[in-house]
Amino acid sequence: MKDRYHLRRERLRRAFAKTRADGLLVSDFLNVTYLTGFTGDDSYLLVRPQGEVLISDGRYTTQIEEECPKLDYHIRRTGVNVVDGTARVLRSCRARRVAVEGDSMTVSIREKLARATPKVEIVSTSGLVERLRRVKDQGEIAEIRRAVQYAERAFAVIRASLRPDWTEKQVADELEHQMRTFGAKTSGFASIVAIGARAALPHARPGNRPIGSAELLLIDWGADSGLYRSDLTRVLLPARISPKLERVYRVVLKAQLEGIAAIRPGVACKDVDRAARRVIEKAGYGRYFKHGLGHGFGLQIHEAPRLAPNTPGVLRPGMVVTVEPGIYFPGWGGVRIEDDVLVTRTGHEVLTCVPKQLEDVVIR
Ligand code: ZN
Ligand code: ZN
Repeated sequence: MKDRYHLRRERLRRAFAKTRADGLLVSDFLNVTYLTGFTGDDSYLLVRPQGEVLISDGRYTTQIEEECPKLDYHIRRTGVNVVDGTARVLRSCRARRVAVEGDSMTVSIREKLARATPKVEIVSTSGLVERLRRVKDQGEIAEIRRAVQYAERAFAVIRASLRPDWTEKQVADELEHQMRTFGAKTSGFASIVAIGARAALPHARPGNRPIGSAELLLIDWGADSGLYRSDLTRVLLPARISPKLERVYRVVLKAQLEGIAAIRPGVACKDVDRAARRVIEKAGYGRYFKHGLGHGFGLQIHEAPRLAPNTPGVLRPGMVVTVEPGIYFPGWGGVRIEDDVLVTRTGHEVLTCVPKQLEDVVIR
């Protein structure tokens, strides 16, 4: 029976047939993982019409046999670097034209490869494997659901035990600890825990400010499960907030709900962004929403597709994206609400369910 990696490689073969190359050399290690299940690094995968070979080194022999027992591999000898090992494989299969991943292969590696294989024509490709990765299979979706579960359970624990004298960093550390307790290996990315004006910085690092000292607390966090991730954001508020903050919160929430409602197969990515952005612009805050509405995620926390103005592409069943509009005022603060959404055959399914109505996010 063909495993999921085999099916992915078959799809890849169809995708690079247009390049008229004898093979595609996959050098991005996450792409290698996606196509084989092998999780080590320093290894390339040569995918040819006739089959494929993983080019690795002696440290990984056992791991390759465990993780991808049916895969052909070439172990380069100690002292032979990955480029020379690859050149050897290309010579032995008499490749004449080889496609490489232009998005990840460095210029210097490419030059070394060209020098080591003077008879091989090297052509660049872009995003071939990344395009396949946009649509998740059942196994990947199941991992993402688990990653969501770990993140949500951890948040519920934190939410119930928050104290005003905790610092941003304590909240972040505690969240991470809880996610591990529930089953994650790590947080899927460095959590953002930011109070007040710090919440206006899209990638604020948690510091030593006590969370009770400001009017809002923004938490952007996620967990991993297997090789997959989740990505959520909530803003928590004290019982009494300014009318401005209340209005901003309501506008962001409305924009987020409109963005989610626009998600279905066949819709242009930029139109989903438009659906949410329109709400923020109508409220007069358009210039304070400074990023795209959302992004795909999976093996990486940010991957294709992007939901943003002027981005090409349409949504297809199996894609998983975040929807995360935000309004940020420098020096004042910011509100962002982020959920994870699966595109289904008939519309969408919101995978995350942390309550987000205004009354739900008030810390009592
Ligand atoms: Zn996030
Ligand atoms: Zn995100």
